[in-house]
Amino acid sequence: MEALFDASVQEVSRLLGLTDAEKSVLEDADAAASELVTSEFESYVQRKYNDQVPVILRRHNLMGVPIASKYGGRGARQLVQALFMERMGQVGMGVVTFADVHQCLGSLVIQDWGNEEQRSRYLPRAATGDVVLAYGLTEPEAGSDPGSLKTTFVRDGSSYRLTGSKYLISNGSVATNMIVFAYPAEGGKGPSAFVVDTKQKGFEVDMRLEEKVGLFTSDTSLLSLTDLAVPKEDLLGVEGKGFSVAYSALLNGRIGIGSGCVGVMEDCLNQVRERATSRVQHGKPIGKHQLIQKQVAFIESSLESCRWLVYRAALKKDEYEKDISNLALRGEADRLSAVAKYMSSRSAFESADRALQIFGGFGYSIMSPVAKHFLDTRVARIYEGTDEIMELKIASSVLGREFEAYR
Ligand SMILES: Cc1cc2nc3c(=O)[nH]c(=O)nc-3n(C[C@H](O)[C@H](O)[C@H](O)COP(=O)(O)OP(=O)(O)OC[C@H]3O[C@@H](n4cnc5c(N)ncnc54)[C@H](O)[C@@H]3O)c2cc1C
Repeated sequence: MEALFDASVQEVSRLLGLTDAEKSVLEDADAAASELVTSEFESYVQRKYNDQVPVILRRHNLMGVPIASKYGGRGARQLVQALFMERMGQVGMGVVTFADVHQCLGSLVIQDWGNEEQRSRYLPRAATGDVVLAYGLTEPEAGSDPGSLKTTFVRDGSSYRLTGSKYLISNGSVATNMIVFAYPAEGGKGPSAFVVDTKQKGFEVDMRLEEKVGLFTSDTSLLSLTDLAVPKEDLLGVEGKGFSVAYSALLNGRIGIGSGCVGVMEDCLNQVRERATSRVQHGKPIGKHQLIQKQVAFIESSLESCRWLVYRAALKKDEYEKDISNLALRGEADRLSAVAKYMSSRSAFESADRALQIFGGFGYSIMSPVAKHFLDTRVARIYEGTDEIMELKIASSVLGREFEAYR
């Protein structure tokens, strides 16, 4: 595994022209990934949250990969963030989920939408891991349609008071702070975004959701907010413009999830290479049977095509970052991030399925190295926008806004 990580850093640096600082992020990511493998697998077998993920990322100075260096982060552009997430994906989607939520849906959102005071207050601690972030959009009655959020806020002197439930929240019971979206109780404008302190009275973890199909190593929680006081200083962006905050987070997050899925395919390919060349049936290694080669060819082709889709989306996002008033560029980045997430999550799930098939009966054991990917990648077709929502989004980006199916 280590050899693959090392080779990848050299190769992507050569192809993509990375700086020495960017290369060092990836070298640290490879070292962290190698260290994460054991605790991630043990936690998966025991079906529990892997509490070593923040510890190991912190040890390698990787909690703040996309945070600007002036706030103590590594200052990674989206492309380097994607390459980092790809390495986390080689370990598994549990690690990807933790990092994607803390970094892409959390830190980057504060960096992009926060004022200077908020950035200085949160980002240096997010970069060290003293602050761990979650993202609370989904509710029991509002998933694909965030317009039906029921969480509300009222103004109360120098604070807001928030009441409602947040459902299926990754990092929900381990985060110190959560980006929460809520409508004004009196109705009217769109929702607003807040940075909520999870230690405040009124914030409760109702349940850690443990009966999941997979992704056991990631914390997923059901939370309630009861008259939770949020100081005015923790309103993120402009009141009533919470959807702009939420959607920009998802643009970053989808590139992160797509990259993680590429990492999953890399690991599937590695595992399959090992198995197909060593397992002998009918007098020869199974890799010499043409039907096994067909599966290997599928995984390799999926990996290579999705890898470049993800890089293209990340490069487009970086282009937009240099010209943020250019809405056409933003639209392109948004479309490409949806395409990258849609294709990579489907391909990773299918690749894990085919890898499991190559492993045969042992593949069906939770102890095989590919069963975990099979169980864990399925969620990537659901969270941060389901397959169907991605299809609608991609189609309307081609056909025009008047074809948006859910308007
Ligand atoms: C493990 C896990 C972690 C998660 N982490 C987070 C998190 O950190 N933060 C967060 O806010 N959320 C999180 N989510 C929630 C996730 O984003 C939602 O589950 C997802 O957006 C889908 O919403 P839903 O589950 O309510 O499904 P629904 O919206 O009820 O959809 C059900 C089905 O209907 C389809 N559908 C809905 N509307 C349409 C339409 N207009 N046209 C066609 N089909 C449609 C959907 O595609 C889906 O197939 C997480 C989910 C899981 C499983």
